[in-house]
Amino acid sequence: MNRFLAIILMSLFIVACGPKQLEPDEAFDCLNCEGWNTPQEPFRIYGNTWFVGTAGLSSILIETDDGLILIDGALPQSAPLIDVNIRKLGFDPHEIKAILLSHGHHDHAGGINALQRISGAAVYTSDAGQKVLMSGELQDDDPQYLRYSDASGIPAVKNVVAIGDREVVSIGTVDVMAVYTPGHTPGGITWVWESCALRGCYDTVYADSLSAVSAEGYYFSDGPAANQLIESAGVIADLDCDILLSPHPFFFGMQAKLEKRDEGNPFVNNVACMIYAETALDWLEQRLQSEGG
Ligand SMILES: [Zn+2]
Repeated sequence: MNRFLAIILMSLFIVACGPKQLEPDEAFDCLNCEGWNTPQEPFRIYGNTWFVGTAGLSSILIETDDGLILIDGALPQSAPLIDVNIRKLGFDPHEIKAILLSHGHHDHAGGINALQRISGAAVYTSDAGQKVLMSGELQDDDPQYLRYSDASGIPAVKNVVAIGDREVVSIGTVDVMAVYTPGHTPGGITWVWESCALRGCYDTVYADSLSAVSAEGYYFSDGPAANQLIESAGVIADLDCDILLSPHPFFFGMQAKLEKRDEGNPFVNNVACMIYAETALDWLEQRLQSEGG
């Protein structure tokens, strides 16, 4: 065979059979975006549960006997990093059957549209989260809503399923329960499932953000968000919780825990959810004091 023809045929074969590169949506720019989007090696947290996000933004992969579940998609520009991380672990992103959302802010929902395009998976969130995802716009009851701005950093998503409080998303034999924890956003969800391995089964909690952060001009003391945060902190503190994860890795001390991996599994800690809730209440108290309330 002609040598040039052979090279062309080989190139065509590589293009046709190699992994398809994920095309991200337009990158979102924010003060912390670049640092948060620093690449992070993926790793197993425990049993069926893997970290596939970036250094500053969580994305969690759950392996089931009938496909994969992904929680959160980070920023629009994080999607290719998440895609590569999933492949590095030996999984196929096309096998994602459900994408679950913690809350509809750019740094957790921004990558979902691209990740859905590659997998075709349905996305699960609350009623309030569904409005944000399907429109790609924050609603005016969100503490971080910016009047007169249409730049939410969330590419609109199709095939979004609204799921009720304490309802379950089931893929294969794995059940992931939605626990409503509003306050940081009106539609925030904490996701709960069981991770099993030889050492036993652990209740794993992806606790939604409980930080009292807002756009300028918003007062937590004025609206329902402060009471929602207090209630949601109580809900998270009361959950059966052996492993705490959350939308930002620094909320659950990921880097420090990774450095201690030779001392057993530092992610297993049955008081971590309680400490997370107490810390959130401290933040809220400081915020209310700064508002003069
Ligand atoms: Zn947020």
